[in-house]
Order: sequence, then C-alpha cells, then structure tokens
Amino acid sequence: MTIAENLARIRAEIDAAAVAVGRDPADVRILPVSKYHSADQIREAAAAGYPLFGENRVQEMQAKHAELADEGIGFAVIGNVQSNKAKPVAELAAEVQSLDSLKLAENLSRRCEALGRRLPVLIQVNTSGEPQKSGIAPEEVVEFATTLQGLDGLEPKGLMTMALLSDDEAQVAACFQRLVDAQSRIRDAVGGGYDELSMGMSGDFRLAVAHGSTCVRIGTAIFGPRSAG
Ligand SMILES: *Cc1c(COP(=O)(O)O)cnc(C)c1O
Repeated sequence: MTIAENLARIRAEIDAAAVAVGRDPADVRILPVSKYHSADQIREAAAAGYPLFGENRVQEMQAKHAELADEGIGFAVIGNVQSNKAKPVAELAAEVQSLDSLKLAENLSRRCEALGRRLPVLIQVNTSGEPQKSGIAPEEVVEFATTLQGLDGLEPKGLMTMALLSDDEAQVAACFQRLVDAQSRIRDAVGGGYDELSMGMSGDFRLAVAHGSTCVRIGTAIFGPRSAG
C-alpha cells in the first residue's frame, strides 16, 4: 500500500465511523504523524492533500521545517516541549497540541507576542491517569484554561489526549469521554470555544471519531512502522 492509498482508506473509515453516529465527516481532520519518517515520505503525503504534519520532538521538527517549509508544508507539535525549546516552537510551529504546563504556556505566549503572532494551541489532558503520560489532570483543566485567557500570544483551540493503550474498548472510550466532559466544563467556564478535540491514533481512531474526535493523529497506519520511538 502506498501512503496515498493508506490515507484514502483511513479517510473512508473515518467518514464511515462519523456517519454511523450521525456526525458530519467534514468535522474530522487527519493529522498525519511523521515522526521518524523521512522528508520524502512527508512529500508523498503532502501530494495527497495533507500539508500539516505532527512531530513530537522539536529538534526533528526544526530539521524537517528547514527542508520542507518552502514547499508549503507545516508542522504541529504533539510532544513534550522543554522550556529551552519554546523559541523554535514559537517561531516555526503551525500549532501546538501538547500544551501541558503554565510555564510553557507563558514562555510560548511571550515569544509569540514578540513575533506578532497568536499560536493555535490545544491543552493536552491526561485522561488515562497514567503517571508516565503528559497532560493536565482533568480536575485541573478548567483552572488551566481560565489562566490561558490572559495570555495574548496564544489562541486556545481545544483539547488533546492520548487514550489508554488497551484492547478494552470500554476503558479507551472512557478516556475519550473524559476529554469531551473536560471540553464541556471549560466551555461553561470561559463562554464557549474549545471546538477541537484531538483524539484517536492508528489503533483507536474509529472509536475516537464515534466519541466526537475532530482531529485524529495517525502515524503507523499511514507511514508504516517506525524504526524507533
Ligand atoms: C506517535 C504519536 C501518534 C501517532 O501514533 P500511531 O499509533 O503511530 O498512529 C499520535 N499522537 C501522539 C502524541 C504521538 O506521539
């Protein structure tokens, strides 16, 4: 299967999963996750109509940005950002889906203000409760979102989560539902917005779409297995 064929197949599966629960398939976007994959593979996916790619390491994003930005290809940061990497992220990222600390939010906002831009951000929420996973705890997300209101360099768009990695669909679905609940509590507190729900990966995107995902982040099912990571 080529990258374009994989993308077409996944798109059709998303559309079917959306229609099955009465959702508009146009409300779900695919973010191809290109970490550990080559610039040529990215070009292939871009040629199939996907100009934005997810990367979880800032250094890799910088290298690929240098190689591909002239071709109209952009990057969304989906992994942990160390404070000393706020500068390249503010300068280069099209969006950040892994906002998980106030310190990072303040650093990014200050730098983006200086650059005269507002950076689209999603708050990463730890819906599985696993200690090794990043993200704001669901109980703390309303306070976090309220604080973001005062940061003019950021444009909060929604929430992102990584569900439990499990064959138990009910437990995975419970993670997605926690993100939906967090969205509704935030909307009550800040008066709406937060439309984006980034949830679902290669193994669980159909379930995520059934539970309201608007952005699925897919690596393996598009590009094949990664050599590392
Ligand atoms: C790697 C990664 C993905 C994609 O995972 P696949 O299982 O390969 O589809 C999605 N989200 C995040 C945050 C990732 O780091």
